[in-house]
Amino acid sequence: MTSGRGGEAVRLDGVRKDYGKGVVALGGVSVGFPVGGFTAVMGPSGSGKSTFLHCAAGLDRPSSGSVVLDGRELAGMSETALTKLRRDRVGFIFQGFNLLPALTVEQNVTLPAMLAGRRVDRRLVEQMLGRVGLGDRRKHLPGQLSGGQQQRVAIARALVTRPAVVFADEPTGALDTRTAAEVLGLLRESVRGSGQTVIMVTHDPVAASYADRVVFLADGLIADEVVSPTAALVAERMTHLGAWGSPAAALAGRA
Ligand code: ADP
Repeated sequence: MTSGRGGEAVRLDGVRKDYGKGVVALGGVSVGFPVGGFTAVMGPSGSGKSTFLHCAAGLDRPSSGSVVLDGRELAGMSETALTKLRRDRVGFIFQGFNLLPALTVEQNVTLPAMLAGRRVDRRLVEQMLGRVGLGDRRKHLPGQLSGGQQQRVAIARALVTRPAVVFADEPTGALDTRTAAEVLGLLRESVRGSGQTVIMVTHDPVAASYADRVVFLADGLIADEVVSPTAALVAERMTHLGAWGSPAAALAGRA
């Protein structure tokens, strides 16, 4: 596997994103994501999380600064090259699962490889579906599955191409607490089992506690970092960053 500086799957240096009229979504962000690491990115609404994710994943271009993904500098890359890099080396997991309703579980998982024009390794697909506990649901349609099961299909789909990095955008935002815990546990195990790199944007301290490290954004800048996070520690740090409402209270009550 190729990687950036010091075995990093993704590296941002001085990444700035201006939207004009004085809106600075990212004000010069420098941060690295080690190969095999599971990092949560947190921050209040408007702190730049989505912009960060889009820039780091090559979905959007920074106004200035450098993004190195899987050892390749994205600045100056053509749209075609970026699309190919994303297709071949990046996996995505979204809040709304984004499965195709008319395709079976198996077909949904196979689709990215097919679109990339690659030979589909049926054994690997079967193995992945087994790993996410859906070995007996291969022929089901997404509509026949629960939300948690659908997100497990999306995890299998994101991992099956063995991407250099998986970006997860609020992956448990649409799930109840218990299902969210199952999905996050599964994501963590998948990461450990396969040495995958995961970057997960979330506003939930419990979700963040499944990561190895939490990076906090505030006003478009990295404001803090916690290694080996617990939900309580994350919630406590959040209260210092402001504009969150009351995460500690939300955590206590899980309201
Ligand atoms: P978060 O995901 O943490 O809520 P965003 O990255 O969505 O933060 O937004 C960061 C800042 O950039 C906010 O002030 C937001 O209003 C602004 N912003 C985001 N996208 C755009 C856009 N397409 N055009 C103008 N301003 C934007």
